[in-house]
Amino acid sequence: MINASPTPEDIEVARQQLSERIAQEKDAGIPAFDRTDAVTDMKRTPFLMAMRTNGYTAKLNRSGCQVLESCPLCRGSNRHTFTKGDQEIHLCSDCGK
Ligand SMILES: [Zn+2]
Repeated sequence: MINASPTPEDIEVARQQLSERIAQEKDAGIPAFDRTDAVTDMKRTPFLMAMRTNGYTAKLNRSGCQVLESCPLCRGSNRHTFTKGDQEIHLCSDCGK
């Protein structure tokens, strides 16, 4: 199995980028419901950003929602499908496995 999971450093970089973006939006006076943090999960979003940085695209279903399945390890329901070229991998954004 390919180890494509982002490193803790990757996730930390993404988290900082996200925090900066939210701070900039607050400074710009953007109302809370229009800001990035309205749609942000501080755990899941940096994970997804780090995956994107590493060249992986989260797979979407026909209605444009992310394909999510339940994780056999942590029993959460945030196991994503990512694609990169013709490679397809499954990774859980809760436990990173
Ligand atoms: Zn999991």
